[in-house]
Amino acid sequence: MITIDGAEGEGGGQVVRNALALSLATGQPFRITNIRGGREKPGLMRQHLTAVEAACAIADATCDGAAVGASEITFHPGTVRAGDYHFAVGTAGSTSLVLQTVLMPLVMAGAPSRLVLEGGTHNMQAPPFDFIDRCFLPVLNRLGPRVTARLIRHGFYPRGGGRVEIEIAPAPLSPVDCLDRGAPLSVSATALIAGLPFDIVTREIETARRFLDWPEEAFATHELPADRGPGNVLLLEAAFERGTEIVTGFGKIGTSAQSLAKTAAQRMAGFIGSAAFAGPYLADQLLLPFALAGGGAFTTVKPSRHSLTAADVIARFTGQRWTFAAQDDGTHLARRI
Ligand code: ATP
Repeated sequence: MITIDGAEGEGGGQVVRNALALSLATGQPFRITNIRGGREKPGLMRQHLTAVEAACAIADATCDGAAVGASEITFHPGTVRAGDYHFAVGTAGSTSLVLQTVLMPLVMAGAPSRLVLEGGTHNMQAPPFDFIDRCFLPVLNRLGPRVTARLIRHGFYPRGGGRVEIEIAPAPLSPVDCLDRGAPLSVSATALIAGLPFDIVTREIETARRFLDWPEEAFATHELPADRGPGNVLLLEAAFERGTEIVTGFGKIGTSAQSLAKTAAQRMAGFIGSAAFAGPYLADQLLLPFALAGGGAFTTVKPSRHSLTAADVIARFTGQRWTFAAQDDGTHLARRI
């Protein structure tokens, strides 16, 4: 039995999700203690519990100890079954994070699946739908499968009510190298707002324009029906020939529109100024599919703690060692050694 100390490394929910996905994909049971031990309020939260329940549902797996607040669970994977699944994440938890848990096992399941996910689609500290759709899935699809995502309805914390549909056509995973992102193709800055004063997005776009030397037509505001809100998000997107980066600023009480937009724009400018294929978030999310493909490589910015911790969890289940080696051009090369 693999035993993981959930307080080690990054010490958050990603350790649980990666362990669940790897357990399902490799057929090995695991026990995790000190769940989210690095967080102020440790233990499983509702959204992590939904990920555990989803992992159980797609494989007739069993999980001892799973409950809100639990600090320890023992997970026995069954056989992953392709099919139609519907998971609702209570309390507007992130649909993307549930997807992170079940996607790779279903991609490896040998028959097509369809997922309907309900909850939050644009949550703080989680990949927004746009990131999954245009940054993560295009890379995953280069490994072999064909996964498509559709945003049916936006969902913001705390109201939720968002809906995402995912179609999965599996294929054997082949390692690929994503070293060079290619030439720039297009850029866009979109400020979304629902049920909040419109001047918030006006200020976000004005600020983003000051920090990004992008053409005027790249900047847009978009107002969603008020009953989708309250919600606000600024999406900065840069598409290159072989990859796309999206930097997101999430509106929240206590952070001004200007400061949110400035931080996001500076991060985007930093990424554009680097030569990296993957930004910091994409890097930690790519490690799982790359490891399940057995190899390949990608360049990224300085590895985050999330990435280093993901590499540790991967090593526990697969024996593979993934490292991030600094390159002369300032990027880091993620590869299996
Ligand atoms: P916890 O509450 O313990 O922090 P969590 O499950 O909410 O747990 P993390 O363990 O921090 O969250 O994992 C967050 C995941 O969301 C990571 O895979 C990270 O790459 C991704 N992520 C966070 N913010 C963004 C963003 N702005 N764009 C894309 N991906 C993001």
